Amino acid sequence: MEYSPFVADLLDRFLRYVRVDTMSNPHITDRRPTTAGQMDLINMVEKELREFGLNDVYLDPNGYIIARLPSNLSEGKQCPTIGFMAHVDTADDVMGNHVKPRVIECYDGKDIQLNDEFVLSVSDNPELQRYVGQTIITTDGTTLLGADDKAGLAIIMAVARKLSQNPDIKHGEIELIITTDEETGSGMDFFPIDTCRSKCCYTLDGDRLGMVEAECFNAATVEIDFHGVPFHLGAARGKMVNSVTMATLFIASLPQAESPEATDGRYGYYCAHEIHGTAEKTHLIVYLRDFDIDRLQQRIDTLKQLAKTVEMVYLGGKVEINDKIVYRNMYNEIKKHPEVMEAIFVGAEKLQLELEEKVIRGGTDGARLAELGIPAPNLFTGGHNYHSRFEWAALSTMETAAQLVEQIIAYWKGVSI
Ligand SMILES: [Zn+2]
Repeated sequence: MEYSPFVADLLDRFLRYVRVDTMSNPHITDRRPTTAGQMDLINMVEKELREFGLNDVYLDPNGYIIARLPSNLSEGKQCPTIGFMAHVDTADDVMGNHVKPRVIECYDGKDIQLNDEFVLSVSDNPELQRYVGQTIITTDGTTLLGADDKAGLAIIMAVARKLSQNPDIKHGEIELIITTDEETGSGMDFFPIDTCRSKCCYTLDGDRLGMVEAECFNAATVEIDFHGVPFHLGAARGKMVNSVTMATLFIASLPQAESPEATDGRYGYYCAHEIHGTAEKTHLIVYLRDFDIDRLQQRIDTLKQLAKTVEMVYLGGKVEINDKIVYRNMYNEIKKHPEVMEAIFVGAEKLQLELEEKVIRGGTDGARLAELGIPAPNLFTGGHNYHSRFEWAALSTMETAAQLVEQIIAYWKGVSI
């Protein structure tokens, strides 16, 4: 197929990045990045950025890259620095290394045989129909693809290259933020926030065409210790208090209709996640999630009330409870700066692109950035079926995402500081 120079670069870049083994390891806590392959890709990307002519490239000892494309606006004109972020690592749910991408040009609209065993079916992936006659990229059925998030990485790199080679396209200062170990949940733990200048940052880590995410859960982890009164079992009548029994009453009292398995969309939940103990002492961990911070606090209060009730039912037993907010809904930060979302919607309108706002039933690196004071909504990249061997990416949607990035840059050019 004939591609424009930009799309050819985008595809070439994506294929090159997915072939680097960058599976992260959530069990390693004393090394950053957690795996050596991630550093290989970071080094490769750093070299490419310098080849584009970007001189302001900061490579952090923990593997973060913050690269700046200087403003080329006429003197006296100033606009805010904005960031675009992607992560280099891949998940470990299925094998994330030794990826052998398959490029299918002029897709015929039929099921795709990945290998002898696995088929990417149209019935499971109605979105495929959108791409008949176009180019899609799949796996060979043995690994994931790594479009999460190398599609995002390829998009921001291709745009940076285009801008650095076309000085006629005017823009303010732009930061490319490239991270490691996102899939381990601790991707932002060592983020060099003092080096970052972005007023806001767009993560390119979403999936299907048009999807935008600006909200994630508020999350609390509550640890509960049930202290019983141990006694010889043969003479326990009226004397022993069993902490295991106390814990089961506590768990059974949690509202079943507000569990992860009974909720979706904007509903929050209680989840008894982990338990271990003996008659003397039982330790329970409960995860609480809610999009509304006040309702999350109400859930914490409910658990505290329940702890008192259990103490009253099992006289002599004690219940200790400790709660901790682990991350907050990034929308709290985004809503303070309406222009952050406006830039996306204005840009999409120019592209005649319909957007679909989705809430994230989890946390993201964007949520961590928001806590550091940088609003960070998430944009689509054209990948599908993340963390699975059925992962695939649509080249035309990667291109649309790149066009949206350019539109967002154009929007911010018109905002004065
Ligand atoms: Zn991701």
